[in-house]
Amino acid sequence: MRDEYRHLYRLRHTNANFSRKMLLTIECQEHSRAENTSSSIGILMKAFVVHAPGQSTIEEVESPVAKPGHVVIDIARAGVCGTDVEFFNGDMAYFQTGEAKYPMRLGHEWCGTVTSIGEGVDKNWIGKRVTGDTMLGCQKCKRCKSGLQHVCSARFEIGIRNGWPGALAEQLLVPEFALHELPDSIDDSIGALIEPGGNSLRSAQAAHAAPGKKVLVWGSGTIGLLTAQFVIAMGAEVHMVGRNPETLSLARKLGVHFASQKFEDVDGGYDAIIDATNDSGIPAEALARVEPGGRLVYIGVSGEPSMLDSRSLVLKDITAVGILSASPGLKGAIDFYSRGEIDPRPIVAATVGLSKCSDVLSGKKIAGAGVGPKIQIDPRIL
Ligand SMILES: [Zn+2]
Ligand SMILES: [Zn+2]
Repeated sequence: MRDEYRHLYRLRHTNANFSRKMLLTIECQEHSRAENTSSSIGILMKAFVVHAPGQSTIEEVESPVAKPGHVVIDIARAGVCGTDVEFFNGDMAYFQTGEAKYPMRLGHEWCGTVTSIGEGVDKNWIGKRVTGDTMLGCQKCKRCKSGLQHVCSARFEIGIRNGWPGALAEQLLVPEFALHELPDSIDDSIGALIEPGGNSLRSAQAAHAAPGKKVLVWGSGTIGLLTAQFVIAMGAEVHMVGRNPETLSLARKLGVHFASQKFEDVDGGYDAIIDATNDSGIPAEALARVEPGGRLVYIGVSGEPSMLDSRSLVLKDITAVGILSASPGLKGAIDFYSRGEIDPRPIVAATVGLSKCSDVLSGKKIAGAGVGPKIQIDPRIL
């Protein structure tokens, strides 16, 4: 169905049993919406909205309208991530710093099709399948101009920071500069794994993974598993320590050479260790275990300070790297996936509709789900 007809269809069918309460909700959103959505009265879409820790609803909200320099995407697939869980639970540090506040529209791992464009946007984007950068820098400051827009102090983060509505919805507004086109060889499931893939690719690169190197990945969640896949594709030997026996067995199937729940079981001598956990003790543990002259990659973030002794960094001649975002790795992840060097789909346990978002975020088991750590949402499923 063409987009404009779909809106009309939605409007008609929504109005048929539209409750007064829902109208009031929309009026409230009219006042509180982030400045990046334009008004389009009467055009509505479904979105997942978190109102307070553990409290969420699926609502009819205003559909985004493509303002100058922006496009609107019809979302085909969106991944639910550990960061979303922290926002759902209220644990995320951005609540303390004022960088995020309820109500929130989550979702930053996505793909879809461009259905409308704003003034000044290249018309060729219409109808293209795309994914995009989560980080939306101001494009004017020194960091943005030097290729570091993902650490711009004024940045929005889609579904995360400064109120930019996320992709757990039927549609998403994105600036043109953030778009990446998807080749046909990348299906929707893989398309929504490019964002975590970009983070994981950067982690593997920061570990200097290459033939003859031995790398330990600590953590068997989505980032740990994807990072291990990139490390393997780069020719290194990869070992993994994780808590979950099911995801560790999945890791073995994906080609991880050795996987265990206990560090004592793995054999040491690691040229690099990648911390993909949220355990505050692991950064120091990794520093203690890595080979002198080696590399440490920190991508996991714990809920409390994770302390380490910088003297050990000096005395072991260690290079430590922090990875915040996928931004500089998105293009590379698309290339790896499209060449078929990595198939990330075994990591996806299930694909469900928007109505299941709160179950997924509150850790409820999804019926029929596989062992992988990732659940994806298709907003076209009821
Ligand atoms: Zn994520
Ligand atoms: Zn900037």
